[in-house]
Amino acid sequence: MESELTLMAVHAHPDDEVLSTGGIFARYAEEGVRTVLVTCTNGEQGDGPGGVKPGEPGHDEDAVRERRLAELRDSVAHLGIEHVELLGYRDSGMVGWDANTRDDVFANIPLAQSAAKLTALMDKYRPQVLVTYDENGGYGHPDHIQAHRVAVVAAEAQRERRGLPHKLYHTAMPRSGFRAMGSLLREAGVEFDFDFDELPEDFGTPDEKITTHVDVRSYVDRKRKALAAHASQADNIFFLRLPDDLLPQVLGTEAFVRVKSDVAVPDDEDDLFAGIR
Ligand SMILES: [Zn+2]
Repeated sequence: MESELTLMAVHAHPDDEVLSTGGIFARYAEEGVRTVLVTCTNGEQGDGPGGVKPGEPGHDEDAVRERRLAELRDSVAHLGIEHVELLGYRDSGMVGWDANTRDDVFANIPLAQSAAKLTALMDKYRPQVLVTYDENGGYGHPDHIQAHRVAVVAAEAQRERRGLPHKLYHTAMPRSGFRAMGSLLREAGVEFDFDFDELPEDFGTPDEKITTHVDVRSYVDRKRKALAAHASQADNIFFLRLPDDLLPQVLGTEAFVRVKSDVAVPDDEDDLFAGIR
């Protein structure tokens, strides 16, 4: 007999939990699945109070951390996530930022050390389904790439010992979704400075790689509230500037690439727990 159904998602910063997995957290929590969010860093390289950017005078990492962890608690409450586990590492910043070179940032912590922390959490919760980013961390941020590595190493260790998780997924942003969003915004007269028709080569996930689409339209309002909870980072959250009536189309489906499964799955998968329930 399977133990309690459990979903664990491994993210890099406070706020990353919302866009790609906020809907599955809300949906599965409502269905009675135990939900666990692991956030690897405290997001110290985010914007400070008053919109002060990292590296600018007056950017106080301690203040940013406290603010962002408080925002994370609000976001998690909106999404109904049952357990939040913080690995507590320092934010490494975007590629090329000063923080990259520090020994104590997440991306520079020896993998064995951070993976051991995650393995301990997997021992505690025994998730059947684990979700994290792809090898490129979705968009190349050093902490997202490191979160991916940590999750893969910990999952391998756990599979050898316990045969769990049964399924491993990468979050995905379908390239076609970006193009559709571009035309939607154009029709709605929303201004944006990004060419959705000429996506950079490595941007988003090729549609043919996506194995799983989960319908989360009923949870879009909660995703919006969770995003808004991360108010200190609002400058960087494009979706908060979209009109509410476009959100169901933009945020109503979450897509994934199933990279491992030891259970039989349907061709057109719409449930991360398919084959396990
Ligand atoms: Zn992030």
